[in-house]
Amino acid sequence: MPHARTLACLMLATLLAVPAPAQAQHRHAGAHVHGSGKLDIAIEGNKLSIGLDSPADDILGFEHAPKTAAQKAKLEKAVARLKDAATIFKTPADAACNLIKAEAGLEQPDPKAAKPSEHADFTGAFEFECGAIAKLTSLDLGYFATFPGAGKLAITIVTTKAQTTREATKSKPRIDLKGLN
Ligand SMILES: [Zn+2]
Repeated sequence: MPHARTLACLMLATLLAVPAPAQAQHRHAGAHVHGSGKLDIAIEGNKLSIGLDSPADDILGFEHAPKTAAQKAKLEKAVARLKDAATIFKTPADAACNLIKAEAGLEQPDPKAAKPSEHADFTGAFEFECGAIAKLTSLDLGYFATFPGAGKLAITIVTTKAQTTREATKSKPRIDLKGLN
């Protein structure tokens, strides 16, 4: 789990054969703004790949290793909910997408760092295989309803046809993919 974000970046970079933005690769958890996460979406062949990088505060309400039993339970529950990724990222039924990979976890700051960050990210990597990917015209984010601490997601979308950015919020949780795929 520790390298989920790195993997997502590598995956995108490989798919695209263009370099991922430097700040995405080297961004430290301290740079995040609570309430605001990032989502990378890649569509290639019959595969939908999603990388999530959110402030842990948005998902857990805390940004440190869980200390109490309640915090441990909260972390386990959050991981389980994210891994149930078809409810977090809802694809149109006629696109016939099946979840084939789901990883999620708390990225803890390096305790050996000279100045340990007070922030921590929650990351996830997800893959769906779709029977009719041309019908993948939208993605509805159950993310906001599941994690009330989350406010918005800055979204990067990369397909064989296009590269673009979007934003989704609690009040606008649908990502329109028409014409991109
Ligand atoms: Zn933070």
